[in-house]
Amino acid sequence: MPPSNHRDLTSRQCQHCWKGKGLKYPNLKLSACAGCQVATYCSKECQRLAWPAHKDVCKRGQVILQADALLGLSRHPQTRIASLSKLVLKHRSELNKIAVLALDADIDPAHTAESVLWVVLRPARPTSVHTGWTWTPCATDVVPCSLMRPDHRAATEQEKRRLVQRERADGKEVRGVAVLVMQDEETAASTEVMFALPPTMTGLPRGPRRPDWRALLVEMLRSA
Ligand SMILES: [Zn+2]
Ligand SMILES: [Zn+2]
Repeated sequence: MPPSNHRDLTSRQCQHCWKGKGLKYPNLKLSACAGCQVATYCSKECQRLAWPAHKDVCKRGQVILQADALLGLSRHPQTRIASLSKLVLKHRSELNKIAVLALDADIDPAHTAESVLWVVLRPARPTSVHTGWTWTPCATDVVPCSLMRPDHRAATEQEKRRLVQRERADGKEVRGVAVLVMQDEETAASTEVMFALPPTMTGLPRGPRRPDWRALLVEMLRSA
């Protein structure tokens, strides 16, 4: 059965009835399968009904889980967020450029009030314990703010206002705030990066010479 709402990028769904946490079910509680820690269910009943179909996938998931533990690749959402934050810190200026390009924020800063850049990433498992793990993009899109989960959207708006206040207190003019959401595909944990737009932005060509932000993102992650 396909997910009931393909555009619901901000949430996860019950892997049996496909109810998703979002506008329709804001209070839905999803629990992860204790075995693989990946599949999520809205109730014990859904988990029980899904088990015959999930059993084999779950066993494979548990093997990956054990290998991940050996490699220090924790499934704990906070660990994933810490890793994504480290990535952001290292590549902040490139991500700023990518977000501005994706949202066309240099052409019209008003776009930043309507949409956010959403990047869903998957940890790329290392081939050796010495190389560590990296991230590869698995979905990326410009998402209208109206499709964000209401509580997520409200928190984002509040954070944007705080950033503008801080910038203005420093005597800086702000024309908008570009938001980039980085989300771990496996745990759905996410972190947000915000870029205050200065009054004038130069250096980003328009038209056919405009860089492809998706290509820049892939290149950045490959070099990470
Ligand atoms: Zn369910
Ligand atoms: Zn499982």
